[in-house]
Amino acid sequence: MYVNERPVKILLVDDRPENLVALEASLEGVGGELVLAGSGTEALRHLLSDEFAAVLLDVKMPDMDGFETAELIRSRPRSRQIPIIFLTAYRSDAHLFRGYDLGAVDFLFKPIIPEILRSKVSVFVELSRNAGVLRDQATVLKREEEKLRCVLEAAPDGMVMCHENGDIALVNSRLESLFHYSRHELLGRKIDAIIPDWNRNAAANEQADVYGDAVVHGRELTGVRRDGTTFPVEISLNSFEDLDGPVLITAIRDVSDRKRVDEEIRNLNTELERRVQRRTEELLRSNEELAQFAYAASHDIQEPMRVVSLYAQLLDSRLKGQLHGDATQYLGYISENAKRMQDVVKDVLALSRLDSQGEEHFSKVDCNIALNEALANLEQKIVDARARIVSDRLPVVSGDALQVTRVFQNLIGNAITYRSEADPEIRIKLDSTESEWLFAVQDNGIGIAPDYHELIFGLFKRLHSRSEHPGTGLGLAICKKIVTHHGGRIWVESEPGHGSTFRFTLPRH
Ligand code: ADP
Repeated sequence: MYVNERPVKILLVDDRPENLVALEASLEGVGGELVLAGSGTEALRHLLSDEFAAVLLDVKMPDMDGFETAELIRSRPRSRQIPIIFLTAYRSDAHLFRGYDLGAVDFLFKPIIPEILRSKVSVFVELSRNAGVLRDQATVLKREEEKLRCVLEAAPDGMVMCHENGDIALVNSRLESLFHYSRHELLGRKIDAIIPDWNRNAAANEQADVYGDAVVHGRELTGVRRDGTTFPVEISLNSFEDLDGPVLITAIRDVSDRKRVDEEIRNLNTELERRVQRRTEELLRSNEELAQFAYAASHDIQEPMRVVSLYAQLLDSRLKGQLHGDATQYLGYISENAKRMQDVVKDVLALSRLDSQGEEHFSKVDCNIALNEALANLEQKIVDARARIVSDRLPVVSGDALQVTRVFQNLIGNAITYRSEADPEIRIKLDSTESEWLFAVQDNGIGIAPDYHELIFGLFKRLHSRSEHPGTGLGLAICKKIVTHHGGRIWVESEPGHGSTFRFTLPRH
């Protein structure tokens, strides 16, 4: 392909135009472009600006003869290698020697036989073309090699190319800086000098990520610098077949920073876990202490409150009709507040008991029975309020029967307490997902503004004064604790004036 495209020129030098014409005629069809020069000087001028496959040089010329011209041609680096064929009429040895001394590649004796001339010149034309092709191919190869070198140099990792026995054949500058060796020192050494555990088979066998022949990704090994210090590296390895056999390319990455960060994260996590555990233990302990305190305090207050209440009632019955002014009213306040205090203490006790009970006493609880129990406890309140209560069929769950009863009792009790003008209509509904039961206690009461939907589940949080609706503010907090304790959630959906729906979940399994 190159052969046909490459223009080849032949320089014909003779002082006699008729000779030049004859040469030109003889060389017709030889394939090259013929350039004519009438003197040595003109020939040198052409040689300055052009490349020639060969020079046909007449020996006998005025001013500068062929030998002098050849001497000058040879003295210039650019034209030193050009083949020169002398054209001469003399066959003397001295003549030939001088010519060969000056680098003549051949002599043609006059009268020139066109066939011989043509065949000799064709050889040089062919040679020149082939040399041109080789030059082009060498340039392409050089460019490719440069590209490869650039890729190698631009790689963020240290790169080593080595033979199967580990002999290093090529490295990039990143590798030099990683291991503190100069390129020169590394070439010809074994790769084990910088990575002692480097081993094509071991690397391939132990690695999960193996594609085809010996490909390893991200294997962690140890690198050894020139001064003997070590550092963690991650190697990736690939192989290909060269003319001389298998060649292995190893990419080496310094993972010291990553390792350090990993180590720091691990240490931080351990420290965090330790702190969380310590904190959890402290919290558990203080919770336990608090629950014990609440229990003991409530228990101790219960008795004096009972006595206060009892004596207030005694005074009331003994002194009926004898008290004057506001005295009867005061006595009423004492009874009423003693009763409230007893209610609060009862609820606080219930709450603190929940804390001290685990799941170990859970059993099968039929929610229909728990609901009936709650309704029985609320009987008077239901009758007084003319409340209508309907319920779906409820499931059997795992839990504490008394606690489940308590949830129904508190929610239905509230539905009656916080009723609207209308008679209370209360529905207990059931839905389910694959994993949980979804209970709803729906009423037609006064409803709750969205701002308070979470707040009302807090301790002692109430939205009404005691004169409006007596209560401890602990009922929903107890419900929340029980439901959470059973592995469920509780929340309310409500709008003022549109009733409320309290929903809670319990696990199915
Ligand atoms: P208590 O009823 O003793 O005040 P709760 O914890 O049971 O305490 O309820 C907290 C507050 O939530 C109540 O004071 C009331 O304002 C509101 N609430 C509870 N249930 C309902 C309901 N069904 N309808 C409207 N408001 C309610």
